[in-house]
Parts: sequence; structure tokens; C-alpha cells
Amino acid sequence: MRRPSSRRPSRWQRRAAWARAVACCPSCQVLPGTPCRQGSSPLAHGAVHARRYQEAEATAA
Ligand SMILES: [Zn+2]
Repeated sequence: MRRPSSRRPSRWQRRAAWARAVACCPSCQVLPGTPCRQGSSPLAHGAVHARRYQEAEATAA
């Protein structure tokens, strides 16, 4: 299945950017502001690990 290309960030990308900005990642152990990574390379399209959303929500609460 092809992913439609769009210049505007999708909803999850905005949410990922928020999580990246406010929370560290329990999965890959990066600090706030640092993109998630898998091994030595960053996740595609600015994605973050699921655990990071939980961390961001805990930070925001
Ligand atoms: Zn991560």
C-alpha cells in the first residue's frame, strides 16, 4: 500500500514532535529534544516510540 505524500505534517507527526520535545524516551534512552532511534539510526519520518507518548503525557499532567 502506498502512503500518500503530503507536505503538511500529519496528526501523528505533530504528536510525535510534541512527545520528542517534552519527554525523554524510555525505549531508546534519548533526552528531550532528541529524536528516537533504533540501533544507531533515527526512526523514519520523525517517529517516536509508543512509550514516549506515555512519558510525554505524564510530563504534561
Ligand atoms: Zn525512543
